[in-house]
Amino acid sequence: ATPTAVMVATGVGANHGVLIKGGDALERAQSIRYVIFDKTGTLTQGKASVTTAKVFSGMELGDFLTLVASAEASSEHPLAKAIVDHAYHYHFFDNPPTAKDAGKQSKQDKLSGWLLEVKDFSAIPGRGVHCLINEKTVLVGNRSLLMENKVTIPNEAESFLVSLELNAKTGILVAYDGTFIGVIAVADPLKREATVVIEGLKKMGVHPVMVTGDNWRTAQAVAKEVGIEDVRAEVMPAGKAEVIRSLQKDGSVVAMVGDGINDSPALAAADVGMAIGAGTDIAIEAADYVLMRNSLEDVITAIDLSRKTFSRIR
Ligand code: ADP
Ligand code: MG
Repeated sequence: ATPTAVMVATGVGANHGVLIKGGDALERAQSIRYVIFDKTGTLTQGKASVTTAKVFSGMELGDFLTLVASAEASSEHPLAKAIVDHAYHYHFFDNPPTAKDAGKQSKQDKLSGWLLEVKDFSAIPGRGVHCLINEKTVLVGNRSLLMENKVTIPNEAESFLVSLELNAKTGILVAYDGTFIGVIAVADPLKREATVVIEGLKKMGVHPVMVTGDNWRTAQAVAKEVGIEDVRAEVMPAGKAEVIRSLQKDGSVVAMVGDGINDSPALAAADVGMAIGAGTDIAIEAADYVLMRNSLEDVITAIDLSRKTFSRIR
């Protein structure tokens, strides 16, 4: 393509909110063989919300929610935000403690008076969070987190968890003082255009792949809904780049679409990295394309644009 053609394509992209960082990236996109999609926030809306909370110990539901929200309050994870929101609503709207607590102060003021004191908070990437409340250990996260801390999950809870996961929900497990106490189910709906875009990519001869830190059953349920057959689940944040390198081994051109801070090594490892949505600065930095509109349709726009620009001169 001539420099003019590249400039025109870059301009057309910009009109769609598709920012292309240079002619090389534009050229590579025509040969994309695999598109790896991050699940959370990329294929899904990234607007997780709690659907159920179930206590398996004698603890009262309100106390359980307060405990979990307190542990999650310092986490930046979308799942954590969903939990804190849910607990907040439970206490201040569904079961307001007293009339004077409702409505007057800002949300933040109310939360600061309501959450329990937390010590030694740590976020464990791809696992969950750990902290001390009332001098007791609190763990909130996935099976791996509980297993690594030698917490036994009762059979009744395990089958509840499986039923959630088969319905594309993520079950978050909670342990207090070394004992399993309950599960919180979180749902994050697919983006509206996701299914159509996956179908479109397949028609273009591109193989879609889903990669996620979430568990296998949830991942597979979501993948099935969206029409992706190739799934890589329970991938640690650092492992996403590894998935890309393995697909590149036979010389295939691999694109990665992701939104989060966890995705930036993978965006950098991909032949074509696409940061979607507001993204994080670090994801935008690592990417070759920025899809500003947060629409998966622009993955197709980007490939189309490259194919059209570079076929004209062949
Ligand atoms: P993704 O690849 O979907 O963005 P992550 O790698 O961030 O997922 O997390 C993988 C899994 O680790 C989540 O599905 C969840 O089970 C668990 N997890 C991570 N952070 C948290 C948290 N703050 N609270 C509860 N669970 C968490
Ligand atoms: Mg993500």
